[in-house]
Amino acid sequence: MGSSPHVAVVAFPFSSHAPKLLAVARALATAAPSATFSFLSTAGSLERLRGAGAAVPGNLRLVEVPTGGGDDDEEDTPAWRRMELFVEAAEAGGLKQSLEAAARAAAPAGAAATVTCVVGDAFMSMAAEAGVPWVAVWTGGPCALLAHLLGDALREDIGDHAASRGDELLTSHAGLGSFRVRDLPFGGANPSGEMHRVMSLLLHRVARRLPRAASAVALNAFPGLFPPDVSAALDGALPNSLALGPYHLLPGAAAPAASGDPHGCLAWLDRRPERAVVYVSFGTVAALPPDELRQLASGLEAAGAPFLWSLREESWPLLPPGFLDRAGASGSGTGLVVPWAPQGAVLRHPAVGAFVAHSGWGAVVEGMSGGVPMACRPFFGDQQMNARAVAELWGFGTSFEDSGPMTRGGVAAAVTSLLAGEEGAPMRARARELQAKVDEAFQPDGGSMNNFRKFVEIVCARA
Ligand code: UDP
Repeated sequence: MGSSPHVAVVAFPFSSHAPKLLAVARALATAAPSATFSFLSTAGSLERLRGAGAAVPGNLRLVEVPTGGGDDDEEDTPAWRRMELFVEAAEAGGLKQSLEAAARAAAPAGAAATVTCVVGDAFMSMAAEAGVPWVAVWTGGPCALLAHLLGDALREDIGDHAASRGDELLTSHAGLGSFRVRDLPFGGANPSGEMHRVMSLLLHRVARRLPRAASAVALNAFPGLFPPDVSAALDGALPNSLALGPYHLLPGAAAPAASGDPHGCLAWLDRRPERAVVYVSFGTVAALPPDELRQLASGLEAAGAPFLWSLREESWPLLPPGFLDRAGASGSGTGLVVPWAPQGAVLRHPAVGAFVAHSGWGAVVEGMSGGVPMACRPFFGDQQMNARAVAELWGFGTSFEDSGPMTRGGVAAAVTSLLAGEEGAPMRARARELQAKVDEAFQPDGGSMNNFRKFVEIVCARA
């Protein structure tokens, strides 16, 4: 006989990683009400989650872990340095100590302090060495994960020729034949800089540990999403993977709606016609260069369609003069610009008909869940591969990156085409097909639900 499981869910406290892990943690805690869950993240990250309305089930507690020496305040230390300090401290035994502390805090009086399983963001791959069963959660694009897993072979093949061979298709690498050398998440578009160095080391460790040490790896995708050659390559490189997404649709994953829409986006959408609105968002990190931001703004105005733009407030002064007044920031004009939108719900609102995005993986799966065709403007990391997959693997959108930075005319044409143009018709149809597949995956016997049940069983197993 054993006491009930105590599961530590370990977040990577940067960009959009922690909210995605919290969604998985909420779903797990809802599915396993007799287990106890501790969600570990830094003070700053937990504060942001609470600010975003992070109500959690009663069997899930939020537990603060040290930053590792980096200032948790966004202003003072560059992001790459905070990440480096945090990861290196966790690697040097910090994670193990945090798990021990969480175990002590969760143990009922007189009972042994244990963590029965670590569910960790894959970026926290040092969990492999914590002496506890480890289940990983990959939040990014699965094709980018495949590229990382095949990284040594790819680097050997491409060497220093990434620039000159950029347009070459990766046909000799199983599952990657639709992608070009320059789509790869390393060494291509963003080969230098401190952030690149920190991320490369981190992802190297992930690729080495995931296949060997994780009991299972959750993917933010559903069975049948990828063509058979991609699925086979993923299964080959990572036999322990379970496609159980999109994570935000798992039962219990979403934050209760009450506090989730502080700027009234959903009410504004309620007053717009079906499939008429363009939603624009570049996620939590990416920022357009000022010139391109202005081109995008005037392209949206030129398209003439109503738009909802989630844009961090620090960028508002860069918008063209009068743009916010003309848009009607109060919601009275054709546009609504907000610092934050409940994106998952926005993209499932019937009024949204097109999505201009940076093609972060969260954006891609949320776009397909809403049946919304996308115009992608990738920046770094997996975004290039994600944009390529949207356009080439699934055909439910286009990518700006082939024609350089976004221009007023390019934006207006892309948006008009996606909303109602003739060229956009097949993309709209593909988006609706994908939405139907997502919905099917979440039927009681659907692919994601079946995999989620397996996942819960693995996570809650007692040794
Ligand atoms: N997001 C949101 N509201 C916003 C902007 C972003 O809810 O106004 C969420 C979005 O739903 C997604 C996440 O933030 O789940 C961003 O993840 P993604 O992988 O797209 O990009 P990242 O921020 O990691 O670059």
